[in-house]
Parts: sequence; structure tokens; C-alpha cells
Amino acid sequence: MSVSTPLKLYNTLSREREIFVPLDPDHVRLYVCGPTVYDFAHIGNARPLIVFDVLYRLLREKYGADHVKYVRNITDVDDKINARAAERAITIRELTEETNRVFQEDVAALNCLPPDVQPRATEHIAEMIAIIEKLIANGHAYAADGHVLFDVPSMPDYGALSRRPLDDMIAGARVDVAPYKKGEMDFVLWKPSKESEPGWDSPWGRGRPGWHLECSAMSHKHLGEMFDIHGGGIDLVFPHHENEIAQTRCAFGHDVMANVWMHNGFLQVEGEKMSKSLGNFVTIHELLHSDKFGGKAWRGEVLRLAMMRSHYRQPIDWTVKALEEAEKTLSRWYAILRAQGVNSDTAFDAPLRQAFAEALCDDLNIPRAMAELHAMAAKAEPRESDSQTARAEAEKLLRAANLLGLLEDDPAAWDQKGPELAVDVAEVEKLVSERLAARKTRNFAESDRLRDLLADMGVKLKDGKDKTTGEPTTEWEVAG
Ligand code: AMP
Ligand code: ZN
Repeated sequence: MSVSTPLKLYNTLSREREIFVPLDPDHVRLYVCGPTVYDFAHIGNARPLIVFDVLYRLLREKYGADHVKYVRNITDVDDKINARAAERAITIRELTEETNRVFQEDVAALNCLPPDVQPRATEHIAEMIAIIEKLIANGHAYAADGHVLFDVPSMPDYGALSRRPLDDMIAGARVDVAPYKKGEMDFVLWKPSKESEPGWDSPWGRGRPGWHLECSAMSHKHLGEMFDIHGGGIDLVFPHHENEIAQTRCAFGHDVMANVWMHNGFLQVEGEKMSKSLGNFVTIHELLHSDKFGGKAWRGEVLRLAMMRSHYRQPIDWTVKALEEAEKTLSRWYAILRAQGVNSDTAFDAPLRQAFAEALCDDLNIPRAMAELHAMAAKAEPRESDSQTARAEAEKLLRAANLLGLLEDDPAAWDQKGPELAVDVAEVEKLVSERLAARKTRNFAESDRLRDLLADMGVKLKDGKDKTTGEPTTEWEVAG
């Protein structure tokens, strides 16, 4: 079943939640600003990767996998790259290749589907030069002193995305005051390169592009003059996205670049944005491969689930506790799949629960979708293992979780995956169900013995009664 619920998305451009109508439902187009490959990605950077991966999966579900095109660029020419390569005494190519390789491993570990195209800026220089030439010809850009600048006052509605007061924008633009600028807010499309810097021949001399121009050129090449959705973190609204819009619209003469602009909120550390410049960052790579956080390495899927605690537009706090909780949840869900003998084949035909589809279509309301997953898991518990309904719920759980990029692992393999798990879930499940059987036959001595045994393993039990059948039930968790 595909998702028939109308998709509503919050559009930064209108500041409203709108019903999404693609320009062409047979060719739905999404562009997300990708990494500047000078250093490992941190888990703040993981947020847009995961958020827009969920959107991509939902669009594929709704319009068909062959009818969605997702482009995420790789910025491999940037002054930060030049500086870092010099610092490390390696070539720019060596730095960008190494960083990109780790980036691809990281995003794959987070269960993010590869975008349809991952264009590199350095492979689109000719396209960038072509856009600059159009802008000069249309009276929206001018060459001065080896530079080419976008003439901001030539665009009457510049600033419509960020809606920042003019004074603010001027103050922001003053950061790079330069004698060759006509207007204070004009920004660089092309700049000259020194001998030691990467550069390409152009009508304005040997030089390199401005960052904003890279995305205009790559989105145009792969998605066209107008497309459906453009995404990134909230910090990109101004100036990056504002300037992308200015360049693309003025070069091609349209009123829109992308119909919908979506922005994720920040991942924070003690109330502050996680960022390279503040030095408060944790890389995806070290979380996956070192034991620096919480004394162990974490699986990518755990990181992914931990990122799903808040709505994508809200800030989210980074904590090790969130990872621990996410891991516990995944262990429980995988245990249910094992107990019910459910796998991707069996789940493929399971209908998506309406409430789950509605939550996702409500501007990717992942917390609501999560609550639905928890409800399905509760109904699919192994204590119901003989019931058809419980198994059907387990299939629905897997099918729905897969749409969020979760539970894609082999349920049998999850447990064997390493020392990270505090308990052997299969063993615990076995003891818990033996104890449940003892309780049902009122063998309290045996039931108490098993309770003590489980307590020694660090497992806490919560006994209850099934509301409909009155049968004893037990829930367990690893004592924190
Ligand atoms: P950058 O490498 O800084 O250009 O960031 C790459 C992507 O990660 C952009 O979409 C940023 O908006 C996003 N981003 C950077 N830091 C954070 C953060 N702390 N929380 C959420 N998104 C972030
Ligand atoms: Zn961009």
C-alpha cells in the first residue's frame, strides 16, 4: 500500500505548513546541501542527513521509488579545505578523498539511502561559469578586480526566504567589506586564486567559485531550473539559501527556485549548537568506532533512533542517555521480530497503519510516528506469540520501522553484534518466559528463583495482567 494521505510540509518560504504538490509527480525532485569535505562529519551534521533521508523514503513510498530524484552535493572546493590540507601537509585531493570516504561510511552506517546523485563541485566548474555569464548578461552580476559579484540591489525581492531586516543583512554582509564591491550586500560568485590555491581558467582570470554558486550550478544541472524541495540545516537559510535563490532565479528568470524550503533545527550541547567552531562536537566516526562515549562503540541504527526523539524543526539535545534508551528500544523491537519470526519478506505486504502514515505526512511528525511504533510493539509482544494479531502487529511494526530506516538489520544478527549489549537479550527472553510459565502454574518458588537470577544479570521485571484475558504478563528492562 502506498501512502495516500496528503503530505503536508512546513515551508520556510511561506512560514506555513502546506500541502505538497510536486511540479511533476512522475519526477519529484529534492536537493539537500551536502558536506564540505575537510573534516569528519559531526552528529549535528548527521541530523539533516537523517531527516532528509526520512523525507526521501516517504516520497519514494508515496510517488514510487523510480519517480523521486534526490541530489546531495559534495563541496570539495572551499577555503576551509585549502587551509586544512596545508595544515596537514597533504594535497587537497588527498584530504577531500579521505574525508569523503569516511563520510560515505558514516552515512551508510546511519542507514541513510545513497542519494540518486552526489555531484562534486569541482566537476561542475563549467556549469558555474555558465551561470555567472548569464547573470552578467542579465544585469545581475558584475566583474571587478578579478572577482565577479552578485548585484543584490538588482533583485527587488532579495531576502524573501530569511525575511531579515535590511540592516541585519547589511551588518552580516559587512563581514567581508571589499573595495571591489558596489553594494554592501553584494556577494562573491567568483574570486581569483593565488598560484598555491586551486583554480580554474575563466573569462575573469584563474579563480574559483563562491560556495553559494556551487549549489545553484549542481541543483540546476541535476534537477533543472525549478524543482520541488530544497533542504538543509536552519543555519543555511541566510546567507547560503538566500543567495542560491538569488543566483538561480536571476539566471533563469523564474519566480521560484524550489517550491518548498525545509530546514532542520539544531542538535545542541547544553543549549548551544554543536559546531566545529565551538569545539563542542562529537564525530559520527568516533561514536561508531571508539568507546569514548558511554564506554562503548554505538551502532549507527542506535544513533539514528536517538535522533528521532524530537520533531525535525525543534532543537534536540545530544546525550549518551538518549543512545542508551534508543539501544534498549531496538533490542526490544528486534527481540519481538525474532520471537514472531518476522522478517523483511513477511513485512513487505503489511499495510501501513493509517495513523502512522498520517503522522509522517504531518510535516514528518516523527515523535508521533514513534508513538505509533511503540503501540505496535506493545501489541506484538512475544507473550502473544500464538496469536495471529500479535504476529500481524510485528509485521506492521517492521514495515513501518523500515520506512523510517529502522529495523533493517537481520533480527537474528542484532544480538550477536558485539559486546555493546549489556545483556544477552535471547537469554533474558528465555528466562522471562520460563518465569511467566512458572507464575501461570503458581510455582512461586521457581518464579522467585528466576527473578533473582535475572536481577543478578541486571534485569528489572515489571509484572502485570493482560487487560482483556487477565493472564499474567511481564515486562523487562535493563536496570539503569
Ligand atoms: P556544514 O558542514 O557546517 O556546512 O553543515 C552541513 C549540514 O549540517 C548543513 O545542513 C548544516 O545546516 C547542518 N548542521 C551543522 N551543524 C548542525 C547542528 N548542530 N545541528 C543540526 N544541523 C547542523
Ligand atoms: Zn547549498
